Amino acid sequence: MHDKPVALVTGANKGIGHAIAKELAARGYTVLVGSRDLARGEAAAKQIAGDARAIALDVTNADSIAAAAARIRRELGRLDVLVNNAGIVKSGAQSGVTVEEIVQSGRPSVASLADVREVFETNVFGVIAVTQAMLPLLREAPAGRIVNMSSSLGSLTLISDPATPNRSVGGVAYTPSKSALNAVTVAFAQELAGTAIKVNAACPGYVATDLNAHSGTRTVAEGAREPVRLALLGPDGPTGTFSDDAGPIPW
Ligand code: NAP
Repeated sequence: MHDKPVALVTGANKGIGHAIAKELAARGYTVLVGSRDLARGEAAAKQIAGDARAIALDVTNADSIAAAAARIRRELGRLDVLVNNAGIVKSGAQSGVTVEEIVQSGRPSVASLADVREVFETNVFGVIAVTQAMLPLLREAPAGRIVNMSSSLGSLTLISDPATPNRSVGGVAYTPSKSALNAVTVAFAQELAGTAIKVNAACPGYVATDLNAHSGTRTVAEGAREPVRLALLGPDGPTGTFSDDAGPIPW
């Protein structure tokens, strides 16, 4: 078995996932930089000091997930941290679509059901599938940690409050996908409550990345703070929580 703790970050070839991978590598983890395009993952891993290795992983593809789990078992024999970071706001949103276009086409009255399904495939079903595949490896680690990258937009308490700014920008795909991800987080935390594995959801804040055409106000390093904190929780840390770096977020 590998002698250093091992972390897998999905969608780590860029954005917040890359910053999380960088931070965990700096803390001595062997970090697997998940990327659905291996070449992009390899380029991203090269930019990280420490032991960072690219791994091909498309969270919507069962064969890709199974191959990644098999490689981790063969090469490292353990998994201490899983960060389910990969996420999309809309299919094709990364190819030059403006935030305003995403908001308009995501409105509940007009959103395409195909788009809604695609967002759920990545943000919800992908997380369940990757977590199920990695659980046998996490169970073997002394203190497995699972961090799901949610969003404050997934908070039903906040989006149902008229005082919350921009509460409708997530439309009928992204926002419900993150609410569902929160419920998925609680479900895994409940089942794993009697084990050493902790499962928590993090919001990175509004971070400038491709996801929002770099309209965010925080840096990726700032966005990585809360997921990294949850990845490194000690034995007395919580499970089944939802927070950002300012504290707990209401469900
Ligand atoms: P980003 O820069 O667009 O990065 C998203 C990452 O997910 C990319 O590496 C992307 O890979 C990957 N990805 C997408 N679909 C995938 C799939 N099927 N399989 C594997 N990887 C896939 O966005 P980000 O802002 O860093 O977002 C990271 C997470 O934070 C997301 O879950 C997002 O919802 C959440 N979040 C972000 C903000 C914010 O303000 N930015 C706020 C709240 C929550 P490709 O390069 O191949 O597309």
